[in-house]
Amino acid sequence: MPPSAERLPIYELRPALASALQQGRGARIVIEAPTGSGKSTQIPRMMINDGLAGDGQVVVLQPRRLAARMLARRVAQEQGCRLGDEVGYQVRFEKAVSAKTRIRYVTEGILLRELLLDPKLTGISAIIFDEFHERHLYGDITLARCLDVQATDRPDLSLLVMSATLETARLQDYMAPCEILRSEGRTFPVTISYSPPKVALKEEPWHHAARVCGEAIRGNDGHVLIFMPGSYEIWKTIEEVRRQKWARDFDVVPLHGELSVADQDRAVEESARRRIIVSTNVAETSLTIDGVTAVIDSGLARMAGFDVNRGINTLTIERISQASAQQRAGRAGRTAPGICHRLWSEATHSRRPMQELPEVLRMDLAEVALTLKAGGITDLDAFRWLEKPDAKGLAQALELLRQLGAIDPQTGVITPLGAVLVRHPVHPRHARVLVAAEEAGCVEPFALLLALMQGRSIFGKSGAAPPDEFVHGDEFSDLLPLLRAWEIARAVNFDRDECQRRGLNALAAREAGQLANQLLRQSRARSAGADDLTHETFAKVILTGFSDQLARRTNQGSLACDLPGGRRGSLQKESLVRKAPLVVATEVREVEGREVQVLLNGVTAVEEMWIEELFPDDYRVVNEALWDEPNRRVMQKEQTVFRDLVLSSRQSGEPDRAAAAAILAREVQAGNLTLKEWDDSVEQWITRLNCLARWMPDLEMPALGPEDRAFIIEQFCHGAVTYKDIKDKSPWNTLRGWLSAQQARWLDQYAPERLPLPGGRHAKVTYTDTGDPFIAARIQDLYGLETTPLLASGRIPVLVHILAPSHRPIQITRDLAGFWKNQYPKFKIELQRKYPRHVWK
Ligand code: ADP
Ligand code: MG
Repeated sequence: MPPSAERLPIYELRPALASALQQGRGARIVIEAPTGSGKSTQIPRMMINDGLAGDGQVVVLQPRRLAARMLARRVAQEQGCRLGDEVGYQVRFEKAVSAKTRIRYVTEGILLRELLLDPKLTGISAIIFDEFHERHLYGDITLARCLDVQATDRPDLSLLVMSATLETARLQDYMAPCEILRSEGRTFPVTISYSPPKVALKEEPWHHAARVCGEAIRGNDGHVLIFMPGSYEIWKTIEEVRRQKWARDFDVVPLHGELSVADQDRAVEESARRRIIVSTNVAETSLTIDGVTAVIDSGLARMAGFDVNRGINTLTIERISQASAQQRAGRAGRTAPGICHRLWSEATHSRRPMQELPEVLRMDLAEVALTLKAGGITDLDAFRWLEKPDAKGLAQALELLRQLGAIDPQTGVITPLGAVLVRHPVHPRHARVLVAAEEAGCVEPFALLLALMQGRSIFGKSGAAPPDEFVHGDEFSDLLPLLRAWEIARAVNFDRDECQRRGLNALAAREAGQLANQLLRQSRARSAGADDLTHETFAKVILTGFSDQLARRTNQGSLACDLPGGRRGSLQKESLVRKAPLVVATEVREVEGREVQVLLNGVTAVEEMWIEELFPDDYRVVNEALWDEPNRRVMQKEQTVFRDLVLSSRQSGEPDRAAAAAILAREVQAGNLTLKEWDDSVEQWITRLNCLARWMPDLEMPALGPEDRAFIIEQFCHGAVTYKDIKDKSPWNTLRGWLSAQQARWLDQYAPERLPLPGGRHAKVTYTDTGDPFIAARIQDLYGLETTPLLASGRIPVLVHILAPSHRPIQITRDLAGFWKNQYPKFKIELQRKYPRHVWK
C-alpha cells in the first residue's frame, strides 16, 4: 500500500463515520469533502478494514466507467490484492468481481438490474453514491429505489451520499433523517487568470490552449492539466503542444475513456518528469492527479442530452457551468499553490449557468422508465423523484416503450415482452432488436452489430466512413461494412498493426467481440452467420427496434428525409444506401459542427411491404382528396401511411366536387390562398348586413357569422378544384344568394352604401363591427345638410367627419345642427382667411 493513503484528509472523518455506522441499523449519511481528500478511495476501505460493513459488500456507484475502473485498480493496489479479488468493478458489459469481492465499484444501471433479480440486495451492506453533485440519471434513480428498499425490506442497509459540493439543503430534506459529515480537506490557493481567445488569430481551442500553456509552464514546476471536451480535441491539443519547442521538457499525455488501460494509468502515475495531461472532465472531480499546479480550462465539455422537442439524442459541446469551472480550477491547488487559466473572459464567466442541469431533466428516459416498470413501479408520476423529469420527456419515453411493445398501451404495465427486454443490458430499442434477431434465427450477427454500435467506432474516428475494402458497391445497409470489417479484424486476431493497416481500431473490434458474447449469453438461440442474412430479414429485425426512425426521402436524389412525428432530417453524404426511397436509421442525432444538423446514421433500405407486415396496426391505406401545395390544387390520392408518416402517394382519379370545395375553402379560411375579388367592398357588404341585423332585429336579417362565412366560402368554391379556378372569381353571385330580393332592398334602404348630400355628391358610409357608422365630407359638400343623417329608419346616427377643403379633418360630430350653430361661425373666420378662393356660406 502506498504509505501516503492513510494521511489523506478524509481520515479525520474516521471516528464520526464509525459512530454513524455502528448504530446497528441502516444509516443515512451525507459526506462532503473537497476533491482529492480521499472519499472515493478511502471511505470504502475504512468501512471494510474497520469492520463497519459487517460481512457484506460495499458497492460504490460511480457516474463514469473510466473512474470506476481506475478507482478499483487503485484501491485493489492499496489493499494489496489482485483486481477482482477483494476489490473489483462492474460496468456495463465488463466486470472484474468474484465471490471474494468486498468493495465493488459500479456504474449506470447495474444496481437497478440487481434490484430486479433480488429486491432485497442480499449480500450488500452499504451503497455509496459517489460524485452525487453531478446529478447523473442513474444516481438519482438508484438512490430513490434504495431509500425504498431501506424503508421496507432492508432496514440494515446503509446509504452514503458523497460529493465535493452538494446542494445539501434539498438533499438533506430528501434523505431525512440523515447525518452530515464534513471535512474541509487540505487545499492551497489557486489564482484565477482569464485569457480569452485573441479574436484576430481566429484560434481553435487547441491553438489557444497551447499558446496559454506556453505561459503557464513558466513560474511553477508542477504538472499542467488541460481540460478539453473530447478525444478529438484532446488529440489536436496534444499535437499542437508537442509542436512547441518548450514541450521537449514535458511528457504530454491524454486522459479519456477511449484509452487502453496502460495509457489510462500513464496519465495518473507518479513520475519524475514534468507532465502535461490533456483530459476530459473525468479529471474534474472523479480522478485526482497529484502534483498539478497549473490548470488550463477550455471551459467546454461534451454533454449527452436528449432533445425533447425532436425526440433525438444529442451529444453536443457545451459551456460548463461556474460550479464546474470552480472544480476544475481546484485541481491546481492540491499539493501547492497553483494557477488556473480560463480560456474565456471574466465578463462572459458571470453569464455562465451556476450549475449544470441534472441529467433527469435532459436525457432519454426510456431505459430507466422500463427498469422502473419492471420493478413494479407502474405510475412513474408517483415515483419518489429527487427531481421530477420533464413531463414531455417522460411521455416520449413511454411512447417509445409502447411502440416497442414493452408496456401495455392502455394500462402502462410492463408486458411479457418488456420483461424480456429489461433483462438485456442495453437500451430497450437494442434489446428489442436482439429479441427479434433471436426469433429470426440470426442473433449472432445482430449481437455483434449492436456491440459495434455501443462502443467506439471500429473505423477509428466515430462517424468516419468505412475503408473501401469493406464496401461492396451498392449496399442495402450502412451497417454491413461494420460486420465485414469485424470479421477481418478477427481473422487477423485483432492484431494492432494489421488492423491499423486496414484502417481498423483493433481494440474497438476486440471489445465489440467480447461485448457480443455478453449479449449472446442472455439469449437462448444460436444461429447462422452474417452471410446468410437476407436483406428482408436484416431490415425487419432492425425495424422492430427503430420503427420510429423510419425515414422517407422527400424526393429521389435528395438527402432530406421526413420521419414520423413531423420530424425532418438528412442522410449523411457518406451513406451507402443511395437509391432507396424508404430507410430506417439506427441513429438520429443532432451534430454540432459549424452549424447544427439532424443527421441520420447507419441506415438500411426498407420495403414498404415489410412495414405493413410488421406493424399492421400502424399501417393504413387511405384514398382521399388532399390539398397538393406544389400544384396548388386538390388531388385525389391513394396514400400509404405509417403512423403519421406518408410512405407512398399516387394520384387516383379526380376528387369528388364537394370534397374539393371543402378543401379549397379550408385553405382560403386558413389564409393560405388569397382571393383577388374578395376585397374591402365584400367585407363592407358583410359588415353592413351584420350591422343592420343588429340595429333592426324586427327585419330578421340573416347575419353572417364566422360559420356562415365558412359556408359561403365553400359555396363559392363549389365546382372548383384548383386555386386558379377561384383566384379571380367574383364572390358577388354567391353573396347575393344569401339574401332574398326583399332583404337586399332593405339592406340598401336602411344601411345604404352611400348617402346623398345636398350639393349632389354622395358620401360613402363606412360600417364597422364595433363602432358607429361614419361618413367623411368636405365642409362645402355639407352645406344644406342641417341635421345629423340617420340610418336604420332613424335609429342610428351617422358620425360625421368634417373636412377642410384640404381634406384635413377639422371636427368629428354626432350633432350636425349644434355644429352649424355653435362651432361653425368660429371655424368659418379662420377658414375663410386660409382658403379665400372657396365659397363660404
Ligand atoms: P476524492 O474522491 O475525495 O476526490 P480520491 O479518493 O479519488 O479522492 O483520491 C484520493 C487521493 O488518492 C488522490 O489525491 C490521489 O493522490 C490518490 N489516487 C487516487 N486514485 C489514484 C490512482 N488511480 N493513481 C494514483 N493515485 C491515485
Ligand atoms: Mg472522488
